[in-house]
Amino acid sequence: MRRRDILKKLALTPLLGGVAGMKNPVQSLPFSSSSLPKRDLFQELGLRTFINAAGNYTVMTGSLMPEEVMDAMYASSKKYVMLDEVQDKVGEKIAEICHAEAAFVTAGCWSALVLGMAGVLTGMDNRKVKQLPVLAGTDLKSEVIVQKSHAIGYEQGLVHAGVSIVTVKTRAELEKAINEKTAMLWFLNREAPMGEIQHEEWIQLGKKYKLPTMIDIAADVPPVENLWKFNDMGFDLVAISGGKAMCGPQSAGILMGKKDLIAAARLNANPRSGVGRGQKVNKEEIIGMYVALERYVNKDHAKEWKLWENKIAYINNTLKPIPGVTTEVIVPPIDNHTPSLKISWNPDKIKWTSEEMRDKLRFGNPSIEVISWEERNSIRITVFMLQPGEEKSVAGRISQELKNGLV
Ligand SMILES: *Cc1c(COP(=O)(O)O)cnc(C)c1O
Repeated sequence: MRRRDILKKLALTPLLGGVAGMKNPVQSLPFSSSSLPKRDLFQELGLRTFINAAGNYTVMTGSLMPEEVMDAMYASSKKYVMLDEVQDKVGEKIAEICHAEAAFVTAGCWSALVLGMAGVLTGMDNRKVKQLPVLAGTDLKSEVIVQKSHAIGYEQGLVHAGVSIVTVKTRAELEKAINEKTAMLWFLNREAPMGEIQHEEWIQLGKKYKLPTMIDIAADVPPVENLWKFNDMGFDLVAISGGKAMCGPQSAGILMGKKDLIAAARLNANPRSGVGRGQKVNKEEIIGMYVALERYVNKDHAKEWKLWENKIAYINNTLKPIPGVTTEVIVPPIDNHTPSLKISWNPDKIKWTSEEMRDKLRFGNPSIEVISWEERNSIRITVFMLQPGEEKSVAGRISQELKNGLV
């Protein structure tokens, strides 16, 4: 289905009624629990809240769910349904949007890696499901081939299903590494430019040796087209985070791909007892993920990009004139592909280290989180997680702290 057709189709879907598959119109349910007295739990618990000018970081609680997503989760918390049926129905919708044969909602991209891997190892064999993650002394395959430059830590998700990682640099090395224990070829999209073997060749090698291929695209929307690009290209499994730029539940992600592999992955997942039993997602996250995806696909992406550029320009114009400050607009090419601003200063003119600047922003009012760990005498900010108007506070506070540091 072409993108325009999808958009048209989605536009016709009554948002919540369609999602939850409920007979009663959702309007009959209260949209929020506003009848209860409001509690400010962050204040009660003494928690610091902050403006997120850093981006999607799990330690910073990722992203904020839009009202549509929260409403969908709230509404779906009001009735019981069978968990497998929610996964079936939502999975069909997600698969259709993303051009996959099948899909289901996982507890994040990491969980998608574990479960996809588990499914590749077990197929539909319940005996094998029970063996995972112990592969030693069994007839199960136990190795996954990864390009060395792609092994930056996320492949550990596969290891949790029991496999070991074999790294290679060249096509020749890869072909030599394949043996009867090889279970899968894994590709990390964000590191593609660092590897010798590119997507198409990776898929072609998988076909040649009859090995499934999986790609991790966790943080790689925008662009929105990446949601279907790698399914179209021929990867057997595609794993993505739900709580990054899509602003779905932070505890959700999607595994999509070939029907048989998705069915096998689900055999290892909650509610069945397998390696994925502890990675639980309930109806609220599953439906929240679906609504977040739908909302994300329907967005005016060009308009949003322009808005980000305007915010970056506003902050840049505030900071650039400060003596000793240099700025640079950076758009990361693959993951977290949104405009960001690197703010550097001459240490002879402004006395703060990057860490001191981080702390000034963190412990000031309002509190702001930035990227402070990349380079000396510099911080970087993103604007895609800012709420409307927050760019003014970000510009004002950074400007004030830079000026406070002038020697
Ligand atoms: C964030 C990330 C993950 C983990 O995703 P979660 O949704 O937090 O589980 C996996 N791989 C890459 C490349 C990531 O950036």
